[in-house]
Amino acid sequence: MNQMEARYPKHLQEDWDKNGLIVGDPDQEVSKILLAVDPVDATVRQAIEGNYDMMITHHPLFLRGANFVSRLDYKGRIVHDLIKNDVALLNAHTNADSATRGVAWALAKACGIDGEPFDVIDEDAAGNPRGLGRIGKLANPVTLDEFADVVAAALPTGPHGIFVGTPVGEDLSMQVETVALSGGSGDSFLDRARELGADVYVTADLRHHPASEHLERGKPALISGSHWATEWLWLPHLEEDLSAAAEQAGVDLEIDISRTVTEPWVDHRSTLG
Ligand SMILES: [Zn+2]
Repeated sequence: MNQMEARYPKHLQEDWDKNGLIVGDPDQEVSKILLAVDPVDATVRQAIEGNYDMMITHHPLFLRGANFVSRLDYKGRIVHDLIKNDVALLNAHTNADSATRGVAWALAKACGIDGEPFDVIDEDAAGNPRGLGRIGKLANPVTLDEFADVVAAALPTGPHGIFVGTPVGEDLSMQVETVALSGGSGDSFLDRARELGADVYVTADLRHHPASEHLERGKPALISGSHWATEWLWLPHLEEDLSAAAEQAGVDLEIDISRTVTEPWVDHRSTLG
């Protein structure tokens, strides 16, 4: 818990967010941890069946509070299953989005940029600025078509894939050099990405009207991936950091990453009617 708090301090979280130990005893010893984006039935099953002591997820289990945690509700069932099987659950959400080597940082790396935050919240102990989004320049400009291939190749396999939107008057051959991004649902940064002069903005969950109206006004082009995939990219870095910390502390810790796709979609087809 201390390792997580040091990397993803609570003060980085958004006002509405919830982060920390959701289920478990802070004194419990853990030797096997499963990392996942979502605390849902499929990943909880995986943790129980794999004999993990702890799950660390990106998303919280409860964001709006709860009056009941009985087995009548699926979230109550998750709490029961975790406690009965001695699996602790801890999460780091928007505090991990903003952090150094966090979610936005991981997505930037996958897109081929050393991004700087464009919405700086503060700096870490080493003086690195932290924030929810990142912006940076590619080493060499490419076409949007080529850039979309880079993003698609970097994201984990899932049925959703990515969608590409071009500004009015442009097509996939447009040049892309400045890349802005924010993992998960990032439509609140559409205007910011434009103000900053980005050629393309990478995020997830873009809805029809915000995306369409944005593209009518011009650049940046849009790439919308799956919420799960854009945030999953953080997990290998989290694994690396926690493993290094455990090794330094001389603690035996096994850490695995769940590749279970927890986006709501199970299939994608192009419509033909
Ligand atoms: Zn998210």
